[in-house]
Amino acid sequence: MKALVFDGKQLSLVKDHPAPARRNGWAVIRVHLAGICRTDQEIVHGYMGFRGVLGHEFVGTVARCADATWVGKRVVGEINAACGECDACARGLDRHCPNRSVLGIAGLDGCMAEYCSLPVANLREVPDDIDDDHAVFTEPLSAAFAILEQVAIDPADRCVVLGDGKLGILCAWVLATVSRHVTLVGEHPDKLALAPWGGIATSQDTHAERADADVVVEATGSPDGLRDAIARCRPRGTIALKSTIAHAVPIDLAPVVVNEIRVVGSRCGRFAQGLAGLGEHAFPVERLISARFPLERAAEGFRAAADPRALKVLLDIS
Ligand SMILES: [Zn+2]
Ligand SMILES: [Zn+2]
Repeated sequence: MKALVFDGKQLSLVKDHPAPARRNGWAVIRVHLAGICRTDQEIVHGYMGFRGVLGHEFVGTVARCADATWVGKRVVGEINAACGECDACARGLDRHCPNRSVLGIAGLDGCMAEYCSLPVANLREVPDDIDDDHAVFTEPLSAAFAILEQVAIDPADRCVVLGDGKLGILCAWVLATVSRHVTLVGEHPDKLALAPWGGIATSQDTHAERADADVVVEATGSPDGLRDAIARCRPRGTIALKSTIAHAVPIDLAPVVVNEIRVVGSRCGRFAQGLAGLGEHAFPVERLISARFPLERAAEGFRAAADPRALKVLLDIS
């Protein structure tokens, strides 16, 4: 099958990559659309030391599965394949299973290929009223919903999201479903112009030193993001940290101690929540699609995704 493979040095389209093997309890999915994520770009710069087929954001149709009721269903899939047997799994922390593999990120070929494979337990059927262009946002939208799972937010809480990239915008939309005071801060007027929804405000004041936010979501994808988040957070407020950066950065944590700030790392969410959110709130995710390329032109797609003006770039594999 055709697949986009990262070999540790470069990204290339391989025409005869082996299709996923049959495994007990797993399904093989024919991919329709895959999204290029910041994480994919970080992997190409060395993050996670991953080698193999890239990609973890997709929508597709089940092509092969021992449980025939799944075959032909349109699905998205949770990206963490947990062992189901360890202490973390027993505590419901399957997204933190130490034995897990992660689609296109750790130990498991991803979805930028004609086929990918995931445990049946990871699959979520996509309702008919959610089309592929929306369903392909389930993974990043679920990651945005993870914040609500981790931080209790009141309607009166002042929320600030730093970063006007796709994840920042999705986080702002999700926060706007619970808080009346959400401000998205970024430096790209054209991206901020796409963000208004659900009463959120936008601001280009990226280095404000006003420490009055109850909750700050750091989604800049930049090493400076945490410092700016600390400067914005009120004493005893909470910072949800979303950016994964390939390189370590030195940071002064004294203000975190002095202001007794809670810093919460936040990664993947539950797909059931992301899908339900797409259905209930009609988030205008189509605004975030900057370009689409066939898999054969994936290298161009990655270059387009690296453009600071770009939001979501999709790979059309159908
Ligand atoms: Zn992603
Ligand atoms: Zn486990």
